[in-house]
Order: sequence, then C-alpha cells, then structure tokens
Amino acid sequence: MVSVGVIGGGQLARMMTPPALNLGLEIKVLAEAEGSSANLATTQVGDYTHLDVVRAFAKTVDVITFDHEHVPLPVLEALEAEGVKVNPPSKALAFAQNKLKMRKRLGALGLPMPAWAEIQDAAALQAFIDSNGGVAILKTPIGGYDGKGVRVVRSAADASDWLANLPQYGGSLLAEEKVDFVRELAQLSARRPSGEFRAWPLVQTIQEDGVCSVVLSPAPKATKETLKTTAAIARAVADGLEVTGVLAVEMFEARDGRILINELAMRPHNSGHFSIEGSVTSQFEQHIRAVSDLPLGSTEPTTKHAVMVNLLGVDDSNDFVRAYPEALAAHPSAKVHTYGKGPRAGRKMGHVTVVSDDAAFALAEAKGAAAVLLRG
Ligand code: ADP
Repeated sequence: MVSVGVIGGGQLARMMTPPALNLGLEIKVLAEAEGSSANLATTQVGDYTHLDVVRAFAKTVDVITFDHEHVPLPVLEALEAEGVKVNPPSKALAFAQNKLKMRKRLGALGLPMPAWAEIQDAAALQAFIDSNGGVAILKTPIGGYDGKGVRVVRSAADASDWLANLPQYGGSLLAEEKVDFVRELAQLSARRPSGEFRAWPLVQTIQEDGVCSVVLSPAPKATKETLKTTAAIARAVADGLEVTGVLAVEMFEARDGRILINELAMRPHNSGHFSIEGSVTSQFEQHIRAVSDLPLGSTEPTTKHAVMVNLLGVDDSNDFVRAYPEALAAHPSAKVHTYGKGPRAGRKMGHVTVVSDDAAFALAEAKGAAAVLLRG
C-alpha cells in the first residue's frame, strides 16, 4: 500500500485525508502540536525544522508532501540525498518559500509580473518608489501569509523597521509596483513527477483585509484571451519550476488588461476548496494522486458554477455546530466544512461551498449559510 506523509497538521492535511482513505492509501501527518486540524489521520507531533524528526517520519511513509511551505530546504535536501521521495521537491519548493527567488525565476522564464526590485537599503527603496508613481508594495520575501509581510509604502521611512532587521527576512526585501487591478484570479493545476498535467477552471478570488473570503468558479466573464494566458502561465510555471502536486498561481487582472503573477503555492490552496464538490476530482485527491505519481483525475466541473465562502472567525466563542439546526435547515444546498480549530477572530475556521447551474443562487446560498454559521 502506498503511504503518503504530510508535513503540517492544518486544514489542508485534514482535507487530504478523506480522498487518501477513499483510494485506500495510507496517510500520516507530522503535526506541530497535539489537537491539530489533521488529527483524524494517523498523526504524530514533532518539530519539522529538525532533520532527525523529519527523517524518522519519512522512514514510515513512501513519499513526503506538505500542508505548508515552511520546512527548511536543508532538511529536505538532506532527505532527498538519502533517497527519500519529496513532492514537490526542494528545488521547486524553494520558489514558493521565497518571493524574491520566485520573482527572479519567473523573470528568467519570461512570465508576466508586476515591476519589482530587490531592496537592501533605504536609498534603493526610495528610488523604486519614486520611479513607480510615489507608491510601492513592499514584501518580506520569506514567512508571510494572509497579507502579513505585505505593506503599502509611500516613502522609505514607512519601512524603517523592516530595513533595520533585514537578516530576519533573508537579507533583502521585495518591492513591487502597486498594481491597479480590477480583480484577483487564481489558476489551479496539478503535475505528476512524470509530467502529466491537468488544470481546473480559472477562478476569481475576493479578499477582505488581505485574507481570501470568497472564490467564484469559474471566474465570471473571463475572455478567451485571459483563459488562454492563465492556462499557459500555469503550464509554464509547473513545467519550468518542475512542480509536483497541486500548484496555485495567484494573479492580478490589471485595469490595463495585463495578467500578472502575484504568487505561487505548491500545495492545495484556498482558491481550490470549491473543487471538493465542484469538480470530478478535488484538489486534495489530485494532490494525493500527483505526489504518489498516480494518474491524475478529471478536473471537469460538476455543475456550471461553484461558490466558496470562507468561515473567518468573528470572536473567541464561535461554535458552528450550535448554528447547524438553523443553517442546515435554511440552506440545504450548502456543504459545510469545518477545520476542528478553536475559535479566534479572523481565523480560517472552515468554509461553505454551493454548486449550482445558477451563479447568483450559488453565491446567495453560500453567503447566507456562512452568515448563519458565523452567528453560532
Ligand atoms: P500573502 O503571501 O501574505 O498572501 P500576497 O503577496 O498574496 O501575500 O499579498 C496579499 C495581498 O496584497 C494580495 O492578495 C493583494 O490584494 C495585495 N497585493 C500584493 N501584491 C500586490 C501588488 N504588487 N499590487 C497590488 N496589490 C498587491
């Protein structure tokens, strides 16, 4: 039996578990702490930054994959040198761990991005701001998520704290043109080690305070040209960076029509949660198949539209189950997923998906169900 080892015990590992079990594969999780979201799989607790811990875990499985991109590269490189299968491999994951490395590599591949620069001092940052209309987006290359590590700057002084602590961020910061975008898009795909590739429909993602709140599949009113461009970008990134498993490419649709790559994730991604109900093969099943080098499943949609709404915690007392009698009765088409996390304001605690041939119905139902659940 194939045994898949997932490093990280978050909701992504949790949602990989049912499809792995359905396929009759074993799934084991190396979690950060007791009581993780993924503790319905065979879970052990350990520090993923320690080679000895990860090596011992790797010995119990056939392939290692990830719930997050934070495992230090030297740990993965050491395991690969010892013959452990790691998917995505360290050489690909390097680009998802470090936004500056990602920009350099995508630039070498000739892919479309916002104007950007590597910043090591205040003068360079000020020069970039001045040549980009007096404003820039500044990012810490490593360790950011959900908008943490992203800042709008109008002068170098706005970043004096980051500039004073450069070693903490890998020695440099990443400055980018502030894109005037009409919307954010995401192209999800999967690639096997042997090269087989499949993509899902292009989706639109809507963020609130830097956190994804709603995903619309397919992206409304995307032109043929946009679909062609985004599909070609996903293929070029997957092949060019030798990604294995699921790849999410987040993009901006700029007001001037440009499609620009924002960032990459090499694992199942929030923009693909809709696929559990909305696609013949979900991103979680596809990731398990791809990292095990099994043939990929169809990514055909099951209905014309799917809408996913994140359940972002309102306060410390949220209890969705308390709201189930009302929410499930009022919204029978809503599929509720919870992540087994303690409640906290702003935390991704679950999501709701509605699939339908009617886009307006799917959006209203998903939002309606989420609103009731968040009152619980
Ligand atoms: P994270 O890794 O924390 O998700 P992102 O790089 O995706 O950070 O940025 C978070 C959000 O900030 C994006 O979803 C987008 O709304 C905004 N953003 C990021 N980069 C730019 C940019 N170059 N121009 C305009 N907005 C941006």
